[in-house]
Amino acid sequence: MVETIIRQKCNKCKLLKPLSEYYKQKTTKNKLNFYCKDCERKRFKLWYEKNKEKVIEKQKIYYLKNEKKIYKKKRLWYEKNKEKMKEYQKEYREKHKEYFKKYNKIYRNKIKKL
Ligand SMILES: [Zn+2]
Repeated sequence: MVETIIRQKCNKCKLLKPLSEYYKQKTTKNKLNFYCKDCERKRFKLWYEKNKEKVIEKQKIYYLKNEKKIYKKKRLWYEKNKEKMKEYQKEYREKHKEYFKKYNKIYRNKIKKL
């Protein structure tokens, strides 16, 4: 397929911009948005400003509704990775033993000076 149109006119700012400056849109003929990325961003920002409260409210509701699920997921992940995490922490401490010693010394000295 030969691409003859490399630029598209934005329906909002009326500027000719390269196709990479447009978001993909499945519903349009050429699969690209009518508005360039800049205009879309501005549009979204405006929309967000207008709907901020609603969006936040929705997120809150979503979280409340799924609180248990989210918690469960976290819990499951933790259970699954508990041993690994322990192992990792141990390894980490071993690896940085000298550093921790030094750091502790410095820290203690600092406290003494206070
Ligand atoms: Zn534009």
